[in-house]
Amino acid sequence: MTDYLVSYGELALKGKNRRFFEKKLLQMIKERVQRDHLKITASFLYGKILVHSDESPDTTRSLLSQIFGIAAFRPVYTFPYDYELLKERLPALLAASMETRNPHTFRITAKRAFKLFPIDSMAVARDLGSLVLSRFPGLKVDLTRPDMEITVDIRSEGFFVSLDKIKGAGGFPEGSQGRALLLLSGGIDSPVAGYLAMKRGLATDFVTFQAPPFTGEGALNKVRELAGVIRSKGSRRKGQLYIVNVATLQKEIIASCKPEYATLLLRVVMLKTAAALAHVKGYDALITGDSLGQVASQTIRSLAAVDAVAGGFTLRPLIGYDKNDIMAIAESLGTMEISNRPFQDCCSLFVPEHPATKPEEALLLSESEKLPLQSFLDGLRDHLSSESV
Ligand code: ATP
Ligand code: MG
Repeated sequence: MTDYLVSYGELALKGKNRRFFEKKLLQMIKERVQRDHLKITASFLYGKILVHSDESPDTTRSLLSQIFGIAAFRPVYTFPYDYELLKERLPALLAASMETRNPHTFRITAKRAFKLFPIDSMAVARDLGSLVLSRFPGLKVDLTRPDMEITVDIRSEGFFVSLDKIKGAGGFPEGSQGRALLLLSGGIDSPVAGYLAMKRGLATDFVTFQAPPFTGEGALNKVRELAGVIRSKGSRRKGQLYIVNVATLQKEIIASCKPEYATLLLRVVMLKTAAALAHVKGYDALITGDSLGQVASQTIRSLAAVDAVAGGFTLRPLIGYDKNDIMAIAESLGTMEISNRPFQDCCSLFVPEHPATKPEEALLLSESEKLPLQSFLDGLRDHLSSESV
């Protein structure tokens, strides 16, 4: 059984906001614990969250290091609120852990969250420091780069002593920044974009566009699997995958529109449909895996023209990322192997030989007006299915 004190860095916001974020973080820790069937509890401890775990240190650390919004956490030894008792027991605690750590230098950092405790934090640090020096004559104080930092958190609930600080995932708790809909293809980029959006505090669900019979069940299964992996990186119990069949519109693009605009028109179709879905289902933003300059449809002019014609509010978390960096994240998430499986995506069908890289917005608009997009959106239900992932 171990206790952990969780701190939330960027979350150290002010007033009402702060309480809202803290609540979300606690909720996300609890949802993840429930989802993974772990014997872990969590509760507020003014300015921090106290986690109480009956799981192994490895399991608990792995859990806490995956939850967005946690800046750092410390395994803590909890002592009752009795300073004399702390001084009596601290040396034994240190002796036990010194065998494995073998430090030469140390420092004490005391924090007095409970201001009614009569000794200020500097004095506590000095007092405990001289206690440690007297019991462990081999140790020296080093305030700047100690081998071992002993932190003592003084609270009305007790003294929390810690020797380790472990870095968390950072970001914000899922849902604390709103809800987003990720346009998820079977490619490498969009799953990574979804992960980054989630990490930044967006509760993220998924929409994919398929064009059966041009695209098969294999392509859809790939997307299902990717959605499952991305969702599993977050804490929410469930995610939603919307599947839209755009085969009719895709055929219409091929039949009636300028070939060099085909990819951009498909992008307009996707974004407009996703925006309509977001409106109905209450999502705040769309997310795509676009990265500036990566392909013809992702030049600055292409992105601007598509956004102008499609409307909606689209975030592109990968806009400044190089492909190599995106691939490294995909590897670490475990999505790379899935994305690399060869299945036909609807975008890779009918790729124009000479795609526009500097499209005219007016022309893109007039080409898009050739499509029965409004009636498609009016009858969206007939082209839409949804499942949980
Ligand atoms: P990815 O690896 O994510 O497929 P990409 O570099 O291949 O990206 P495009 O195919 O040009 O890029 O697509 C750009 C973005 O448009 C994707 O990142 C994704 O967000 C969205 N997108 C493309 N195709 C689909 C699709 N079939 N369903 C849902 N979203 C899609
Ligand atoms: Mg793609």
